[in-house]
Amino acid sequence: MADTPPPLSVTVAGSGAVRAHPTRGGPCYVVTVNGRNLVFDCGRMAVHNLSRFGVAVETVAEVFITHLHFDHICDLPLLLLLSWNNGRTQRLPVTGPKGIAAFLENGLRQAYSADIKSRMGHGKNADYLEWDTTELTKEGVVHHTPELKIDTLITKHGGLLNFNYRLKTPDKTIVVMSDSEPDPRIVDFCRDADLVLIECSGTKEFFDTVPWGTWHTTPEQVGQMMRDAGAKKVVLKHLVIESFRDNNPQVSEGMAETIRNIYPASEVFVGADGMKFDL
Ligand SMILES: [Zn+2]
Ligand SMILES: [Zn+2]
Repeated sequence: MADTPPPLSVTVAGSGAVRAHPTRGGPCYVVTVNGRNLVFDCGRMAVHNLSRFGVAVETVAEVFITHLHFDHICDLPLLLLLSWNNGRTQRLPVTGPKGIAAFLENGLRQAYSADIKSRMGHGKNADYLEWDTTELTKEGVVHHTPELKIDTLITKHGGLLNFNYRLKTPDKTIVVMSDSEPDPRIVDFCRDADLVLIECSGTKEFFDTVPWGTWHTTPEQVGQMMRDAGAKKVVLKHLVIESFRDNNPQVSEGMAETIRNIYPASEVFVGADGMKFDL
């Protein structure tokens, strides 16, 4: 008799990117596997949105970071501090590119040294502020248990070491893409995935107007890669262009429509903060 598959869900905790946006937080996504909350990226408003969408920070089991652009890590010190404040009872594992340990030493331990000293003075257990970093420098498996395997793909983005994460449970595959230039290897990495969270930062016409346009993927490229991969659900995130178009959601809907036209068999969703998928 087959084992009952573990409960699995994906929550978009932040569908936006760098710029402040009235309804879109910065990059943050939660994959919940058998009750364990795995957080991918921790951008602007991540801590606030985790609370809004039912994930108390002290219940975060593990954090994975794609790359060290500030829009993906600015709330990570806050997540560690607040979960400590709220009663976290374990050292928090944080996996990310080489440099994540120094970021936390400088941006948390050094930056908040007066606060940390003050709180320890009223009885906080310093052990539970701590984190265990796994610094990645190459592709490979970063987590392997019978219920979940996570492996990575490196792609180009802004000259940074940049990791995309693929999660496999006994019967489902979820991919959490980073910001990325298009790359033929993405097709294999997303092959037959049940759900892919993928950046759709803007159109080619928009990218031609900004100096960082070549760091990202156009809707046409998303559509082609997801079609060739046979991805089932495609969830668009990191919707930068909307912030340059009066935060008009129709701009993102237009990009989704482009993808649907290229890949009509897919289910394409414009990510929204709080959007949740049970798989
Ligand atoms: Zn980036
Ligand atoms: Zn970004």
